[in-house]
Amino acid sequence: MERLNGIQASEGIAIGSVFVYDPGEYSLDYRRIVPGDVAGELDRLHEALASVSEELKAIRVQVEENIGKEHAQIFDVHLMILEDSALVGPTEAFITDKFMNAEHAFWLAFRKLHEQFDAIQNDFFRQRNADLVSIEKRVLGKLRNQEDTGLSQLPHDVVLVARDLAPADTALLDNDRVLGIVTEVGGATSHTAILARGLEIPAVVGISALMHRLETGDQVIVDGRRGRVILDPDEATLVYYRQETERYRQRAEGFVEARELPAETMDGVRVSLQGNIELPAEVESARAYGAEGIGLYRTEYLYLAQGRLPDEETQYAAYTRLAERTTPQPLVIRTLDLGGDKLSHLLPTLPETNPFLGWRAIRLSLGSLDLFRVQLRAILRASAQGNIKIMFPLVSGIAEFRQAKAVLKEVQEDLRAEGTAFDGQCDVGVMIEVPSAAVVADQLAQEADFFSIGTNDLIQYTLAVDRGNEQVAYLFDPYHPAVLRLIKHVIDVGHEHQIPVSVCGEMAGDPIASLLLIGLGIDSLSMTPRALPEVKQMIRKVPFETLKQAAIAAVNMDGGEAVLAHFQEVLGELFTDSMVEEVEV
Ligand code: PEP
Ligand code: MG
Repeated sequence: MERLNGIQASEGIAIGSVFVYDPGEYSLDYRRIVPGDVAGELDRLHEALASVSEELKAIRVQVEENIGKEHAQIFDVHLMILEDSALVGPTEAFITDKFMNAEHAFWLAFRKLHEQFDAIQNDFFRQRNADLVSIEKRVLGKLRNQEDTGLSQLPHDVVLVARDLAPADTALLDNDRVLGIVTEVGGATSHTAILARGLEIPAVVGISALMHRLETGDQVIVDGRRGRVILDPDEATLVYYRQETERYRQRAEGFVEARELPAETMDGVRVSLQGNIELPAEVESARAYGAEGIGLYRTEYLYLAQGRLPDEETQYAAYTRLAERTTPQPLVIRTLDLGGDKLSHLLPTLPETNPFLGWRAIRLSLGSLDLFRVQLRAILRASAQGNIKIMFPLVSGIAEFRQAKAVLKEVQEDLRAEGTAFDGQCDVGVMIEVPSAAVVADQLAQEADFFSIGTNDLIQYTLAVDRGNEQVAYLFDPYHPAVLRLIKHVIDVGHEHQIPVSVCGEMAGDPIASLLLIGLGIDSLSMTPRALPEVKQMIRKVPFETLKQAAIAAVNMDGGEAVLAHFQEVLGELFTDSMVEEVEV
C-alpha cells in the first residue's frame, strides 16, 4: 500500500481498478486489421487528409483576412507537410504491409518524420516540429472522430489515470464508466478539475511521476476530499473507505434536504446561489441541488464537444432548451471562452508561447467576427424564450467591452430588421477576471448591467500563477490580500453604480471562501451545482455582521493561512462540523 498526495480537484471517493490513458502512445488507437480492411483504412486515411487539407485552406483564408498575409503563410507549410510523400507513403505502407489501422500507421509515420526533422542541424526545420505536432493532432482528431476511438470508448468502472486530460477530452467522459480521475498535471481550478466537479467524478490532480507507478488493472482508492490516492490498499483501508463512502452519502443527503430553504444568514441577509454548468445536461443537477438559476454557462464546451463548429440552429436549440429549463430564473450565457487550455482544432489558432495570455475568450471572438455573430444571434433568438443574460469573458477594459457591445448591437439591428423576436432588454454583463478590468471597474460599471467576478483567472493573473500548473499550485492563493482587495473594490464599485456583483469562480463553491465573499458584500454566488447545498447550509448558520467584520480584517492579513485561521477562530464549531474528519488511515 502506498499513499500519494496531490491536489483536491473534485470531492468524493472512488474505489476501483485503474485504466492508464496515454495518448502520447495512442494506446487506444492501435488495432490490427485484416487484409480485407486495407482498402477501407486507406480510404479513411485519404478522407481525413483531404478534410484536414480543406480545413487548413479555409483557415489560411480566414487568417489572411483577420490577421494578415504573413501569418497565413504558416498554413502553406502545413499543407506542404500534409501532402509530403515522406509522410503519406510510409503511412500507406504501414496499412498495407503491416496491417495497422490508419491512426496508428499515421502516428508511426509521423514519429519518423519528427526524428528526421530533429536530426537536421537547421533551426528552420527544428522549429517546424511544432507545426508537425499541430498537423498530427488535426489528422488524428479527424480519424478518431470518424471512428470514435478514445475516451468515449473506455471500459466500465475504471479510475482513469493520465498525465493530463484536455478539457475537451474530459467533457466526453461518461460518469457511468469513470469512477475517478487522477492526473499528474493540473491545479484545482484547471478546466479539467472544474469539469470533473460538474460531472461529479471524484478527482485528484497534480501527482507527479504517477504514470510509471501504475498499470491498467491496479487497485486504487481516490479520496477527492483529501486530494489523496491510495495504491494497492490493504483490507483495513478498504473497509474504512467503504464506511467513509456511506458517511459521505448520508451527509450529502442531509445537505440536499436544505435545498428548498433560502440562502439567508442568521440576521436575514439574503444572497442568491446559482449553478455553473459546462454541458447542457448539468442544468438538471443544478435544479436538483436547488440552484436559483444558472450564473455561468461555459458555452465553449458546445464547441469542444463537437467535431465541427456548432451552427446557429444547433446553438439556438441548446440555448433555448436551457432557457426553458431555467426560466423564470436567470440563465447567464457566457460567450465563447476558447483559447488558453481550451483549444479547439476547429479554429485557426496559431501556436502560442503563452496561450493564457494570448488569443483567448473575447479576443478570439472579436478576431473571428463571423463566429461571434453566429453565437450572438443564437443567444439573442433564445432570449425570447427565457430570462437570458449575456456575459463577455476576459474583458480587459472599457474599449474592449464597447467593441463587444457594438457587435451585439449590430446583431440586434439585423434581427430587428428581419422581424426575428428577441429580448431587447437582455442584460449584458462583464466578467471581471483580468486585473486591469478590476482596476477600471468604475468605467465598466457605467456601461454594464452586472459584474461577475471570475476568480479563477483573476487569481491567476493577479498573482502570476498558472492555474493549471501543479508546480506553482501552492502559490494559487484565493485569500491573498491583493485578490481580496480587488474583489472588494469591484463589489464596492458595482454597488456604487447600482449593479449586482456575483462571483462565478471556484471560490464561490468553497464553504469558507463563500462566507468571506458574503462578508465582502457579494450579491450572488455561482458554483458547481454539487457545492450548493453545503454552502447554503453554512450561510444559514452565521450572522452577516460576523462575516463582515471577519472580511474587513481579512483584507489586511498576510495571506491564506492567516485568513483561514481567522475564519476558523471566528466561526468555531461551524467548520469542524462540516469537514470530513481528518482521520489518518
Ligand atoms: C473564472 O475564471 O473564474 C471563470 C469562472 O471562468 P473559467 O474558469 O471558465 O475561466
Ligand atoms: Mg475565466
